[in-house]
Amino acid sequence: MRAGIGSDLHRLVPGRRLMIGGIEIPSSRGEDAHSDGDVLLHAITDAVLGASADGDIGAMFPDTLPETEGMSSLTMLSLAIERTGSRIVNIDSTVTLEKPKLRPYIPEIRRSIAECAGIPISAVSVKAKTAEGLGEIGRGEAVSAEAVVLIEEQ
Ligand code: MG
Repeated sequence: MRAGIGSDLHRLVPGRRLMIGGIEIPSSRGEDAHSDGDVLLHAITDAVLGASADGDIGAMFPDTLPETEGMSSLTMLSLAIERTGSRIVNIDSTVTLEKPKLRPYIPEIRRSIAECAGIPISAVSVKAKTAEGLGEIGRGEAVSAEAVVLIEEQ
């Protein structure tokens, strides 16, 4: 068994989709990014790569490559899992977003991540919090996510 940790932060801008865990959340602002900007999937992908001591998402999917432009972060996560050659045991994560409230979408987000990782929904935890109005996240200018992943080497 090996554990990995990942975190990510994206600027929120008008005219972009807000993607969280492979689900589009209705919002007037979304992540500014080269890919689809899914902050939660990026944190989980980094945790997967971290668990196998295999670099990070920026090294695996450079934003200078045309192939990664607009890329689905679900694809990034599944490619990272495939690369480790390991089985995911469980994922725990937290998203910090001022608005909209994520709670109603959490079951759908967990299902999406579980399906991508090929594990039961009971092995995927997603928690949501706000920044209590403080800092760039509190002003609705950014969204962040943190994740811990346990992998079992085959
Ligand atoms: Mg990112």
